[in-house]
Amino acid sequence: MNAETKIRNDLGAYWMPFTANRQFKDNPRMIASAEGMYYTTTDGRQVMDGTAGLWCVNAGHRAPRITEAVQRQVEELDYAPAFQMGHPKAFELASRLAELAPGKLNHVFFTNSGSESVETALKIALAYHKAKGEPGRTRLIGREKGYHGVNFGGISVGGMVNNRRAFGTLLGGVDHLPHTHDIARNGFTKGQPEHGAELADDLERLVALHGGETIAAVIVEPMAGSAGVILPPKGYLQKLREITRKHGILLIFDEVITAYGRLGRAFGADYYGVEPDMITTAKGLTNGVIAMGAVLASEDIHDAFMTGPDHMIELFHGYTYSGNPVACAAALAALDTYREEELFERAASLEDYWADALFSLRDKPGVIDIRAVGLVGAVELEPFADTPTKRAFDTYLRAWDKGVHLRTTGDTIAMSPPLIIEKSEIDQLVGTLGEALDA
Ligand code: PMP
Repeated sequence: MNAETKIRNDLGAYWMPFTANRQFKDNPRMIASAEGMYYTTTDGRQVMDGTAGLWCVNAGHRAPRITEAVQRQVEELDYAPAFQMGHPKAFELASRLAELAPGKLNHVFFTNSGSESVETALKIALAYHKAKGEPGRTRLIGREKGYHGVNFGGISVGGMVNNRRAFGTLLGGVDHLPHTHDIARNGFTKGQPEHGAELADDLERLVALHGGETIAAVIVEPMAGSAGVILPPKGYLQKLREITRKHGILLIFDEVITAYGRLGRAFGADYYGVEPDMITTAKGLTNGVIAMGAVLASEDIHDAFMTGPDHMIELFHGYTYSGNPVACAAALAALDTYREEELFERAASLEDYWADALFSLRDKPGVIDIRAVGLVGAVELEPFADTPTKRAFDTYLRAWDKGVHLRTTGDTIAMSPPLIIEKSEIDQLVGTLGEALDA
């Protein structure tokens, strides 16, 4: 049996995540290997990775220091119990993250994914208020079109209907702020839109409705990636910060996409100049190499738990793989790579070039908006009347056939290349998308 026949025969058992399984198995797109900016498919084609995997391979594929660090670590310490036990690399990584994080976010809780980081942050928020003597703060507030992973807390505070509607009644006591996606007022803006800061005032409405003393936390993505790259209007995040602070509500930034250089700074919080009380991360933490997430929490939150008898567990929460040594080694090497190759600075220096390149597509057929920030971009298409999302997906398939991998979400094509991308590769990526749109 040759390799291609074997692949075909193996297609049955695997129930693929977030995938139209039947359609995929008719037209499988299979990757055999990767290096830097490129995948090689099982049938030997080179395809540019225009999305850094799923927004995670910020240093490009098989960054040598990370590969070596993982190889060394599995030879030395493959696993150590995560509870009641430590190993030096977990402490070193937490210190490095605390140093990198904005302001007072000096404590780190390790998880294995973005979804787990979100659940962890929501649970910490509830337990924090209880520890501070305000057990009545139990309500959680998310936002329409928000994506906070796929576990029950995350889909409850999240606001993407397809991720919610099949799964019952979800968590109680959750409200949603309005989303900030507004093409009519903000279409074709580079960077932050002018209009919409007042949408944050809806939080005051929820405070008036429920009483501020019942609300534990607000969670938002500073830049909403999965719903199609929705940017915060100027002043919006600042307003959320003011209102949450005024009412003693915690502000959580879900930075699973925006952390580790995607916007040209270590965190979206740095880019937008707003310091939340917690930041959830994953993806770029290990450059996608090993599953790992981290929640960064403020001094104040952490301190609230460090009272009471010292033989008691302060937070009844954690995962078998929290702070896994191999994941820690990968993350330390990823942070070294980001620093030594100055990848965050590199992303910042390419921001304008990237936005200008994308905006050259504004007169292409079907384009109704273009958005760009850092090394993230989106081209939104007018959907065909009877088949929403098909136009974007067909465009994605055409680009794949022409050698560039993009991503679609709804009617939007999203892009987030590795931060190592060259200007000539930006031209190639955008040129290929242009041809796919023309077709
Ligand atoms: N939060 C945000 C903002 C995300 O973008 C994602 C993943 N795209 C998640 C959470 C979930 O991360 P994971 O898939 O690692 O669970």
